[in-house]
Amino acid sequence: MTNPAVFAQPASAGGAAPIIQARGLVKTFGQTQALRGIDLDIDRGEVVAIMGPSGSGKSTLLHALAGVIVPDAGTVTVDSRVISVLREPERAALRLRKFGFVFQFGQLLPDLTALDNVTIPLLLAGRKRADAIRQSSAWLDRLGLAGEARQLPGELSGGQAQRVAIARALVMKPMVLFADEPTGSLDSLAAENVLTAMLDLVREEGTTVVMITHDPRTAAYADREVIVRDGQLSAAHAPQTLTSATP
Ligand code: ADP
Ligand code: MG
Repeated sequence: MTNPAVFAQPASAGGAAPIIQARGLVKTFGQTQALRGIDLDIDRGEVVAIMGPSGSGKSTLLHALAGVIVPDAGTVTVDSRVISVLREPERAALRLRKFGFVFQFGQLLPDLTALDNVTIPLLLAGRKRADAIRQSSAWLDRLGLAGEARQLPGELSGGQAQRVAIARALVMKPMVLFADEPTGSLDSLAAENVLTAMLDLVREEGTTVVMITHDPRTAAYADREVIVRDGQLSAAHAPQTLTSATP
């Protein structure tokens, strides 16, 4: 079912405008060409897995799509707005309002309880504390962490800590969730549990997900896999049954 495509489009190409549209992305760090011209469309509600060898440019691509960095050339359009021309304060505001982030390590503030970690984005956004606590508790609950709300990150297992980080990323109901090897630090059983919990929620919420992973089993949960090699997309294909209906 591999469908090599230099110009990577969503499985449902031809429908509504993509939520993320990247064109000609180039990014160089010193002598290193991290991105060498990447075109990528991502549909609303799509779960896309980015795979590829270490150092191939996956994180740089994710950062460019999320407006964390600005490409040297090319454009990123999010929800019909070109974000790659914005200055950092505007991009920061956009990230806070529209995106959620989950990384591999060290995301939780160690001196705050699980619950307090999740309330942070809500409080930063100006929500009332009681309201923030109520919503955060509900998200911890949905991630199976009702009993862990008062624990400190150091008292949690790796999988529990990642689920707290996911709750914190989803509590703002982001338009797009960006995850860079979200289960990379976990053993395979914990990884699978965390991943299925995360994907159940994003599918319920209709959240678009861009997720970097090394694990083919993880990628199999996505609607589509995109493979980055040496700063370019080498192939894109739709895993599993979701998008491979054509014989
Ligand atoms: P991946 O996530 O696929 O492992 P990255 O996107 O992190 O790859 O990196 C791609 C290339 O760009 C690598 O050669 C890496 O060393 C380089 N690189 C990434 N970020 C920086 C940076 N901030 N400064 C210098 N080089 C960087
Ligand atoms: Mg990386």
